Amino acid sequence: MDTKNQQSQIKRRDFLQKSAVFATSAIFLPFLNNSAFSASNPIKSKSSIPTVKLNNGLPMPLLGFGTYSLKDEICERSVAEAISVGYRLFDTATRYGNETFVGSGIKKSGINREELFITSKVWVDDSGYEKTKMAFETSLKKLGTDYLDLYLIHRPRGDFKGSWRMMEDLYKDGKIKAIGISNFTPAQYADLMSVAKIKPAVNQIETHAFFHEMDSYSDLKKNGVQMEAWAPFAEGRNGLFTNQTLADIGKKHNKSNAQVSLRWHYQRGVVAIPRTVQRVHMIENLNIFDFKLSESEMKAISALDLNKSQFPEWT
Ligand code: NAP
Repeated sequence: MDTKNQQSQIKRRDFLQKSAVFATSAIFLPFLNNSAFSASNPIKSKSSIPTVKLNNGLPMPLLGFGTYSLKDEICERSVAEAISVGYRLFDTATRYGNETFVGSGIKKSGINREELFITSKVWVDDSGYEKTKMAFETSLKKLGTDYLDLYLIHRPRGDFKGSWRMMEDLYKDGKIKAIGISNFTPAQYADLMSVAKIKPAVNQIETHAFFHEMDSYSDLKKNGVQMEAWAPFAEGRNGLFTNQTLADIGKKHNKSNAQVSLRWHYQRGVVAIPRTVQRVHMIENLNIFDFKLSESEMKAISALDLNKSQFPEWT
């Protein structure tokens, strides 16, 4: 073998070795708990998830990560892993009993707090002016942060008007960047507005391919309140992940039912917060910004609306 040939063989071997190390790290690093997510290995890259400007100017990612029912180390690992693949918005609540683990997952990731958009919610039992303050401070402590990006009234029950007054005060004090509501109908929104000094920035409501919430959709748009979809997959109920209409559309774009659903939320301008404990689903759910649903595809999804909740046990 001549020298030139030998050098090119060495370069090729070196390249293959480096590629193998890189590929192995890409596959295994995220599963190595402390080394991948330690504070000495902070995540520096900015996320590429598009944002929407709320009615107070605060940018909110249009795609985030739900944490309902995630507990203990599964919650901690999922949150850290979600951050490592690019999620920046995390949705939790006092009611979920997991703020401590959301907080430790964030800590484990090593990300800077300012890069995140953290939402929590005040539960019905803590409704009222003073109780809301205590609940808010407990949430901060558990999450290991000194402010929230978004704080919501979880349900329009109890003394939610008292809660709202406290949330307005906390907002004015700079402890919360935006305040909002969840599970409010247009009539309940109007009732709150009869006493509110600050307009809610967000209303988080059940929305998915089988429940489009058209009344709320137009009402919130008219009032400049951002709609956010909880259960953006209806938790898979009514066969969402195997629905034929979504599958036919997905086939044209080489996308799954989950991706078509999330793209539909995105094209409606609705923030979605899917939950998953599987890394492969975390990545799949993020991968929705490289295709577009046509008008006729959006119309085909409109026809799936059953105009009723898939969670009657919660209403
Ligand atoms: P969801 O996000 O509609 O569905 C979660 C289910 O979808 C999980 O079983 C998950 O399983 C599966 N999944 C995720 N990605 C998938 C994919 N690519 N392919 C196939 N299956 C997939 O349900 P949700 O958690 O009820 O709703 C989302 C978030 O909204 C909650 O976590 C919570 O933060 C919020 N929420 C708020 C309220 C409220 O009252 N404000 C109520 C409910 C929920 P795997 O883990 O196996 O992927």
